[in-house]
Formats: sequence, C-alpha cells, structure tokens
Amino acid sequence: MPVAHKDVFVTTDFPTTAGSKMLEGYRSPFESTVTRKLAESGMVCLGKLNCDEFAMGSANETSAYGQAHNPWDTSRTPGGSSGGGAAAVAARLAPAATGTDTGGSIRQPASFCGITGIKPTYGRASRYGMIAYASSLDQAGPMAHSAEDCALLLSVMCGPDTERDATSLDVPAENFTRQLGDSIEGLRIGVPAQFFADGLADDVRTAIDAALKEYEKLGATLVPVQLPRTQLSVPAYYIISPAEASSNLSRFDGVRYGHRTANPVDLQDLYKKSRAEAFGDEVQRRIMIGAYVLSEGYYDAYYLQAQKIRRLIANDFQAAFKDCDVIAGPVAPSVAWQLGDKADPLASYLADVFTLPASLAGLPAMSLPVGWGAHQMPVGLQLIGNYLQEGRLLNVAHRFQQVTDFHQAEPKSI
Ligand code: GLN
Repeated sequence: MPVAHKDVFVTTDFPTTAGSKMLEGYRSPFESTVTRKLAESGMVCLGKLNCDEFAMGSANETSAYGQAHNPWDTSRTPGGSSGGGAAAVAARLAPAATGTDTGGSIRQPASFCGITGIKPTYGRASRYGMIAYASSLDQAGPMAHSAEDCALLLSVMCGPDTERDATSLDVPAENFTRQLGDSIEGLRIGVPAQFFADGLADDVRTAIDAALKEYEKLGATLVPVQLPRTQLSVPAYYIISPAEASSNLSRFDGVRYGHRTANPVDLQDLYKKSRAEAFGDEVQRRIMIGAYVLSEGYYDAYYLQAQKIRRLIANDFQAAFKDCDVIAGPVAPSVAWQLGDKADPLASYLADVFTLPASLAGLPAMSLPVGWGAHQMPVGLQLIGNYLQEGRLLNVAHRFQQVTDFHQAEPKSI
C-alpha cells in the first residue's frame, strides 16, 4: 500500500524540511517511529508532503516551498498545516497520508478537502522523530478517504514508545477496526451550543445539521451540551503553542544542523543571522510571542493563565461527557477560503476556534466529509471522543459512511 508522509516526520530515505528553509536538504540519520511502523507493516512511502512551516498555519501558506492548492478549487487553500497531505489524498495522488495535529492540522485540511482524518488521544502515537512544534499538543494521525482506512492506519501508527517519547502513553496498541459496524442505536451525540454560535457560516451549519439528522436516522439521539470556554481556546492556544515553539525551535541555531549564515562576525551574529535568514515570518512571529509570554514578569500574566484555562477547558469536556458519548460539530467556521484571504494572522487564528478545544484537552477528534457548502466546497463534521475512544469515534464515522457517499466524491479537476 502506498502512503505519503507529512514533511515533519523525519525519514532516512527522503530529505525532511518541515516546510522550512531552515532544513532545506536536511537528511535525518534516523526514522520517526510512526513512519517506521507504517513501513514495517508493508506500506511504501511515495514521498514527502508540503505543509506549513514547522506546522504553523491553517492554509499551507507559510511553507517555504510554495502553496499547496485545494483540488476542489485550485484558487482555494487545502487548509493547513497538513495541506499537502489532504490535497494529495483528495486528488487521488496517494490513497493515504500521515498528518500531524497540534491545533487542528489534520481535521481542518481533511474538512477543506473532503477526506477523513483523525487525531488520536494525546500520547497514543509516538512523537519520536516528529519535528516538534508544541510538544504538549502535537499528535500524529492518518488522512484517507474513509474512516475504515483511517482505522487500519491508526492501528499501526499507535502504541507505546515510552523509551523514545516521554509522553507516550503506556497503553497497548489496539485494533481500531474491531468496533467498525457496531450499531449506534442509542448513541448520545452531544451538540455544543458554542459550536453553532455566531461566526459559523450558514452553508456549513446547514451541512452539519443535515449530518446530525442522518445520525438520528441511524438511531442516535442529539443531546445539547455546553462547552462554555470554547472562545477562550484561541487565546489560550496562541499563548501555549508559541511558548513551546519558541523553546523547541531554539535548537535551530546554525551550529548543529540546518541553515548557517555565510559570514558571521561572531557567535551571536551566527545565531541571529542564521535564524533570521531561514525562519519565515509566521515562525519568527511565534518565536517572539513565545519568548515574550515566557519571560520573567509576563509568565504569570500570560503563560500561567493560559495553562489554567487549558485545564478548565479539559474539565468542561468531562462535564459534557457525563451527558453524551461523543461530541459533534463543525470543524471550521467556513469552507476553504481563497488563497491569501486570511493574510492577517489573527483572522487565521480565529478560524481554528472549533479544533483547538479538543487539542488543548488532549482528546481524540476527527473530521469526516458530510456535505457541500458554498461554491460546492466540502464540509467536514468534527467528532470528538473521550480519552482513548478512537475505536468508537471511527465507528461513528464509519456508520455514516456506510449510508452516504460524500467520502467517495472526486474533485472534477482530476
Ligand atoms: N492552525 C494551527 C496553528 O497554526 C494548528 C496547526 C497545527 O495543528 N499544526 O498553530
């Protein structure tokens, strides 16, 4: 089976760039756990996939290697940061791809490109050899056409790797296809009011509502739930993730590997010029934000507050899961936007509002195509499960895909 990997997994057979000039031509001396496991299961790597620089972005626009386009409408973004993977799978260039999701980078591009993708519970898939963006959030996951394909891939990708990744969960690998086909009669689907508030485009809302009706036909019941801190996930995430990024990216100093400036006058100059020349604008912005919120005097006001909000968001989910088995809502407030439309970074950050809560809580979450919005662009439904409930989530998506064919639709451009 062919597969292609997001270019943040280090691979020995291909260069790894993380979408950055910093790592142009970089060859890793070792293989990431996720790509190694997929290779050992018999999958053949077709190549590496474009992504936002160090996985920072929502439109694949921050890549140093150019823009990936949405196969449904090439004037639009495929989403990000795993935009290359979503585009490749949607365009039938590869039957499946790996992605990583820190704040939505598997779910949002899957939604924008009409494919299926899942981010497992934090710690399920090893982060060994995945170039770090925000270590307490980064998770690998598969992108493919169906939930069934995702279940097959995820079963191989997950499993303990505690010697190599200190946050790897010591939970045995699982066969996520086992629950596929189980009845969802009586399943309680939580519908958070905050995911349907102002800001959700009408075309997306209509497609999501229709998908929820389909679930009722399959025997599920819809239960209103509250995730009152949904909006706060944006400021909390955009403090925590840059903080971790500023620390993780300090390793790119022009000394050990990566870009080195040509004629430094001294060591300080070597650091400064190497980093200034090779990191793109968005990465530099986040390093500055991260260093600022971690600095003495501002740590308590920003970083610590964000961590507290993160805990409250996780608690809100546990309260909601008392009344429901899975949570459903939109992945993104709109369909894929025109390239360049969210050049203002804040506009792009705000569009992450529905994917960030599950990321901050470390919960498994996925996107499956459920219809069409404006301009005949795909709309994805987000399903969020409680910890370690990937099998159930995949089955809930699979049941929908047994009675609908959105996941089989092909872009006309191919
Ligand atoms: N769009 C979010 C960000 O820019 C999420 C990216 C991701 O999940 N890697 O940080």
